[in-house]
Amino acid sequence: MSESEASVEPVEPVEPVEPVDPATIAVTAGRPVRIPDAPLNTPIVAASTFVAGGDIEYAREGGPTIAAFESVVARLESPDAGAATQAIAFSSGMGAADAALDLVPIGGRVIAPTTAYTGVAARLRELQERGAIELELVDISDTAGVLTALAEPAALLWLESPTNPLLERAELDTVLRAARERGTRSIVDNTFATSILQQPLASGADIVLHSATKALSGHSDLLMGVLVTDDPDIAQSLRSRRTLLGATPSAFDAYLATRGIRTLPLRIERGRSTAEFLAERLEAEPGISRVRHFGTMLAIEFGGDAARADRVCDATSIWVHATSLGGVESSLERRRRWPLEAAHVPEDLVRLSVGIEAPEDLWQDLRAALRTSQRDS
Ligand code: PLP
Repeated sequence: MSESEASVEPVEPVEPVEPVDPATIAVTAGRPVRIPDAPLNTPIVAASTFVAGGDIEYAREGGPTIAAFESVVARLESPDAGAATQAIAFSSGMGAADAALDLVPIGGRVIAPTTAYTGVAARLRELQERGAIELELVDISDTAGVLTALAEPAALLWLESPTNPLLERAELDTVLRAARERGTRSIVDNTFATSILQQPLASGADIVLHSATKALSGHSDLLMGVLVTDDPDIAQSLRSRRTLLGATPSAFDAYLATRGIRTLPLRIERGRSTAEFLAERLEAEPGISRVRHFGTMLAIEFGGDAARADRVCDATSIWVHATSLGGVESSLERRRRWPLEAAHVPEDLVRLSVGIEAPEDLWQDLRAALRTSQRDS
């Protein structure tokens, strides 16, 4: 009997296995339905307009390629698979931040970190100056200080943890619970930790923000942002902010970001272990006065010598002297070269973003730059 003539026993349908590990979710979520000849990847649907009668109609409201990215992010940030977590993608992290800030009523009080990404900090100051919000800055690593600020009614607690570039951390469970008890909406910028190292929704955050330009997409080839929430009303408001403010990402960028996020758990694990290896060596290095590290990020100081910090940034050949972070390639920069950076960030602080290259190559390159920068002084 040939194989084709063999009778095929009908297979009992089995309960699908729901993946629980981020390594599996990152690979399996956001895929088209498995039917014969379906593509494995949600295609790039390049359309500004869709045939009338459906849910989308116009691309400012989203589209299939964007939805695929959103479903992976929602699943990765979701504290449990059954939660109604939704992600709303934007054309940049700042577009996402602005949509979230647009939910604050005029004159609403916003509690925000003294150290935050320069763009967010500048935007908060701008809104305060034009009377749109009342701004109170707090050191988010000072839990008692955050709780004191929360004692007065506030519309929004904005957290960035760890902060850019000082890597300060908030006690998320405590301060987010307090915010919820007091009826203050909360948002956590999770760009540095990513959902692999920290899930703020599980700690009680109302909204999580990512600059998807960074580690989520991971290849320094696009600009995108995303907001994630478990609350259907907040999700609805944020979607409407995106449609009305217009910061919807392109299908091309959403496709690349989905492709990038497939390897997020691997990249974060690799970058984190390399960052630990480098932190140990940097701590033993003469002339380096302080080393901070969290996840894939490091921040080092040169005993006040900003000129040496600049020389190190210019002397590496594997590390790229560039702004931004979270790419497969390791990069570094002295943050105070930017006029908008907070004045309390030390002039000599160099922020390093650790990629996926071989740890020893990264160390040898950095060590050579450290030696050269000493000789040049
Ligand atoms: N949040 C953090 C922590 C960032 O580092 C950045 C950018 O560097 C942003 C938000 C803004 O994101 P984007 O540059 O994608 O607009």
